[in-house]
Amino acid sequence: MKTIMGLEVHIHMLSESKLFCSCPTDEAEPNENTCPICLGFPGAKPKLNKRVLDSGIMIAKALNCSVNPSMFFSRKVYFYPDMSKNYQITQYEIPVGIQGHLDIGKKIRIRRVHIEEDPAKLMHIGGTITSAQYVLVDYNRSGMPLMEIVTEPDFENVKEVREFLSKLQSILEHLEVYDPNGEASLRVDANISLEGGERIEVKNITGFANVEKALTYEIIRQTNLVKMGRKIERETRHFNAETNMTESLRKKEFEEDYGYIFEPDLPRIDISHAWIAEIEKQMPELPDARVERFMKNYGVRDREAKILVYVDKALADFFERCAKIYKDRQNLANWIVGDLMKALNSNDMTIRTSKVAPEDLVEILKMVDDGEITGKVAKGLVLEYVKTGRSPRKIVEKKDLILIESDKEIEKIVSDVVSKNQKAVDDYKAGNEKTLQFLIGQVMKESKGKVKPDKAKEFILKKIK
Ligand code: ADP
Ligand code: ZN
Ligand code: MG
Repeated sequence: MKTIMGLEVHIHMLSESKLFCSCPTDEAEPNENTCPICLGFPGAKPKLNKRVLDSGIMIAKALNCSVNPSMFFSRKVYFYPDMSKNYQITQYEIPVGIQGHLDIGKKIRIRRVHIEEDPAKLMHIGGTITSAQYVLVDYNRSGMPLMEIVTEPDFENVKEVREFLSKLQSILEHLEVYDPNGEASLRVDANISLEGGERIEVKNITGFANVEKALTYEIIRQTNLVKMGRKIERETRHFNAETNMTESLRKKEFEEDYGYIFEPDLPRIDISHAWIAEIEKQMPELPDARVERFMKNYGVRDREAKILVYVDKALADFFERCAKIYKDRQNLANWIVGDLMKALNSNDMTIRTSKVAPEDLVEILKMVDDGEITGKVAKGLVLEYVKTGRSPRKIVEKKDLILIESDKEIEKIVSDVVSKNQKAVDDYKAGNEKTLQFLIGQVMKESKGKVKPDKAKEFILKKIK
C-alpha cells in the first residue's frame, strides 16, 4: 500500500530576545525570563522582533519560496494551559513564504513558511502526558520565536523524510538562524496516511530518530488495521519515546475550528523588493553550493561531499579546516565520512561535542602516508583518539603500534603463522589463491596490524616457496 506523508517542522530560531518582547532567550530558572507580554497579561502589547522576521525571509528564500509582499499576524484561538492569553500569535492567512521546494533528488514541495510564538512549556510530573500526577508551567519558553515549515504530502517513505530533515537542518545551520544544540530545537508534527485512507497526525516529535520511529510505527499500525478490515479515522496522536509507540490523544480538530482572527496589536508589514534584496545579499553559501565547491575545489567525490555537508555542517567545517593542512582531500574525506564518523557515533558524540582537532586527525593520516603505521592500526587509533581525546602520537608510542620494519621480526611472525596454518599453505600450493589472503590476514592479526599487508605477502611467499 502506498504511504503518503507530510511534515510540519517547528524550529527554534536563534535570537537574543523573544519574538514580541525583549525578554532574553537564554537558559534561566523557570519563569525567570518573563514579562507582561509573554505572560499574556491583558492589555500588554506585542512588538515584533525585526531580526526574527529577517531570518524568516532568509529561510523562505533558501527554501525557494516566494516572499509575500505584505503580511500580517493572526491570533489562533484556543484554550490550553500553555497559552495564558488563550490565543497564539502566528501567521495564517498570509505567511512569510509560500510555494517553495527542497530538492532531495526529488522535489519536496514546501507549502508555507511562517513565524509564530512558542507556547509555554508544560512539565508532566510523575509520568507522561497521559499519566502525569500534575503539571508545571514554565513561561520562559512562552514567546520564543519559532518558524514553522509545512510541506506538501510528498514523502513516500521514511528514508525521504530522513533526507529532507537532514538537508533542512543543514540549510538552517548554514544560515545560522537556528541553534542545533538547543533543547527540542527542532520539533516535528508528522502526518501520515495510507493511500485512500484518512490521515493521522503525530504531534510534537523531538529529534530525527524519533520522527523515523514514529512514522515507521504508524505505517505498521495502519497497515495492520487496514488488513483487519478496520477503518482509520482522522486523529491526533502522540509519540511515546519510552515505548516507541504512538498513542491516541484526540480526534483531530480542523484548522478552521481555531477561529483565527487578525491580530490588531501588530501592524501590517510591507516587504519591499529592496528589503528582500538586502537579505539575499547577506545570505551565506548554502549546502548545495558548498557540495559543488567541495567537488570542484577539493576534488572530493559527490558521495562524500554530500555526506560532509548534509549530515552535519560542523563536519563540513571540520573537513575544511583539515583540508588547509592536508593535501589528499579525497583520502581526508574518506576518513572523516568513514572511520571518524563511525567512532563518533559509537561513542554517542558529534563532531561538536567531541574534542577532535583537525591537527590530530591529519597527524594520523600522515603517519599512514609516511608508512609509520598501517591503515588498520590507524582505524583503531581513530577510535581510541575519539574516545580518549589523547594525542594520537602518544597513543601510538604507549601502545607500541609503530610499524614493524625489521625483516627479522616479520620473518618470525610469518614462520609462526605458516607453521600454525599448514593446511592453508598446502591449499595455496594446490592452486587455491584465496588462502594467501587468509594467511596475510593471520599475519596482520598476529602483529596487531603492525606489518604492512604487502610486506606480509612478500615474506609469506618467500617462506613457502
Ligand atoms: P491541517 O489543516 O490539519 O493542519 P493541512 O492541510 O494544513 O492540515 O496539512 C497539514 C500537513 O498534513 C501538511 O504537512 C500536509 O503535507 C500533510 N498532509 C495533507 N494531506 C495528507 C495526507 N493525505 N496524508 C499525509 N499527510 C497529509
Ligand atoms: Zn517577555
Ligand atoms: Mg496544521
